[in-house]
Amino acid sequence: METNYFAQLNGVNVNGHTEKKNGLTYLSWAWAWGEIKKAFPDATYTIYENANGWFYHTDGKTCWVKTGVTVNGVEHIEYLPVMDYKNKSIPADQVTSFDVNKAIQRSLTKACARHGLGLYIYAGEDLPEEEAANRPEIACHDCGEVIEDTTKRDGSRWAAEQIAAYAQHRFGRVLCPSCQKKAFKAEKEAQE
Ligand SMILES: [Zn+2]
Repeated sequence: METNYFAQLNGVNVNGHTEKKNGLTYLSWAWAWGEIKKAFPDATYTIYENANGWFYHTDGKTCWVKTGVTVNGVEHIEYLPVMDYKNKSIPADQVTSFDVNKAIQRSLTKACARHGLGLYIYAGEDLPEEEAANRPEIACHDCGEVIEDTTKRDGSRWAAEQIAAYAQHRFGRVLCPSCQKKAFKAEKEAQE
């Protein structure tokens, strides 16, 4: 089933392939891409150039990169600002090719995460909403229902990918919110 590729990549243990910088966790791009290609040899990635053929885009004030990763015929596109080591946008006139290259790698790794690989690393970050057509359906492991985006109690959006990533990390399998509740209850009962 097409929906299972997300669970497959989401189930890959990325521990030991991350690095922490300024409180944020990053996955190594070289390693992430290696894992994707191992599972899906026909996967491709794209670095989108601007009209001048540069690897970054700018409005004259700040810069950003646009990358895409295609797995199983589904492309996830990621935009990322070119930032300094404090994760602040670098003014356009101070951006170096080194900064751009780093942003491209981070952006590509994040696009891989949208396919499931190491997604839980980004669980604390807001993933911008994508067009519905661009998102594969994710099925719950236990009940088989397609997982929908939900709204958390504080009003913020909890995307289906994030729900799945959380469950994978917490329960070892992709679960919809109601099956997560059941799994949590079962855990508690087992402890009593
Ligand atoms: Zn379920």
